[in-house]
Amino acid sequence: MLVVQKYGGTSVGGLDRIESVANRVIKAKDDNKDLVVVVSAMSGETNKLVGYADSFTSNASKREYDMLLSSGEQVTASLLAIALISKGYDSIAMSGKDAGILTDDNHTYARIESIDTTNMQKALDNNKIIVVAGFQGANANGDITTLGRGGSDLSAVAIAGALNADICEIYSDVDGIYTTDPRIEPHAKKLDSISYDEMLELSSLGAKVLQNRSVELAKKLGVKLYAKSSFSDDKGTLIQEESDNMEAVVVSGVVLDKNQARVTLRGVSDRPGIASEIFTSLADEGIVVDMIIQNVGTTDGLTNLGFTVPQNDFEKAKELMEHFDHDIHAIDFDFDVCKVSIVGVGMRSHSGVAATAFTQMAKDNINIEMISTSEIKISMIINDKYGELAIRELHKIYNLDK
Ligand code: ADP
Ligand code: ASP
Ligand code: MG
Repeated sequence: MLVVQKYGGTSVGGLDRIESVANRVIKAKDDNKDLVVVVSAMSGETNKLVGYADSFTSNASKREYDMLLSSGEQVTASLLAIALISKGYDSIAMSGKDAGILTDDNHTYARIESIDTTNMQKALDNNKIIVVAGFQGANANGDITTLGRGGSDLSAVAIAGALNADICEIYSDVDGIYTTDPRIEPHAKKLDSISYDEMLELSSLGAKVLQNRSVELAKKLGVKLYAKSSFSDDKGTLIQEESDNMEAVVVSGVVLDKNQARVTLRGVSDRPGIASEIFTSLADEGIVVDMIIQNVGTTDGLTNLGFTVPQNDFEKAKELMEHFDHDIHAIDFDFDVCKVSIVGVGMRSHSGVAATAFTQMAKDNINIEMISTSEIKISMIINDKYGELAIRELHKIYNLDK
């Protein structure tokens, strides 16, 4: 049986933690499993490296920036392999490049194009425990690339897919996927299983327990994914194909995303093509626009347009919008917003889910500023200061604590 295990930042947050991960890995090896272990940088390490680069410039050259950021994962991969070898277990540490991970050229947010498994296969044939530095690969030139923040999850899933592993286990400091972030709502309940689609919505809407691209890839490749804790022996949550009884549960989880900024464009020329020009300029810079609201045009040929972007893309969005000065009279920016979302495949077959949420917000006197829905989710933009309250209230009203 081949198992890919991924240990996140808190799981390898210090030398004692790396030692305890080594013991966990050894337990699985003694249980006759073939193992590829993917590791993150120690918690806080990647941010520290970002800070180093920022102390010189806010616009570091991307190739060098990736080389810098990827180093955190190389430290933990090497240390874990050293620990395993010192305990008498044959192990080999690999960078993403050594593991054959080929990506495109999009530094800091690269996509994996393929994985040449030759090196990993050879090591597995020799009964070695492979430890791979997560979050990184190399482009066709051989330059190191990184996969976007939280990208070690993606490394693990991609490797599991390429090696046709039996399971992929993602270890963090929580013992599975909960109905909401247990740090916000202590009554959150752990789910035994959740569908890929629901998990993808939860991750994309801000639940950072799994990186959204890793869930998307797991679904595409049919990787059997578990979210588990490296601090306990709980069996965790299985993320899998939707099963028949899943729709019986209307709402599976609620999510808070504080990383939101709203842009309001006032007095926009109400002519064909304007929305295309504005949103193409944002898309070309890789900015993911979430909610969009356009008001009904007025007789003076002007309209208002509002949309949200992740806070870290705000500066770039601002700069891009300023290029439209002949088409836009005024631009407002608002950081005091957050997004609360409700997710569940049962919404497809149940009515009134949105009305329940809106009624609850009304009872709590929380103004809903923007709304968007899809088949299995409802999202609302509200004032930042009510985000946590809204999550707790929604968690209660949908009986997620029961
Ligand atoms: P790692 O550093 O190991 O990758 P993360 O910090 O990225 O771990 O993810 C784990 C954290 O995700 C937990 O500490 C928890 O606070 C948060 N989290 C957010 N939403 C959820 C959820 N629905 N279920 C479980 N954990 C969640
Ligand atoms: N160390 C990287 C980050 O902090 C990747 C990861 O942890 O998955 O984003
Ligand atoms: Mg993570």
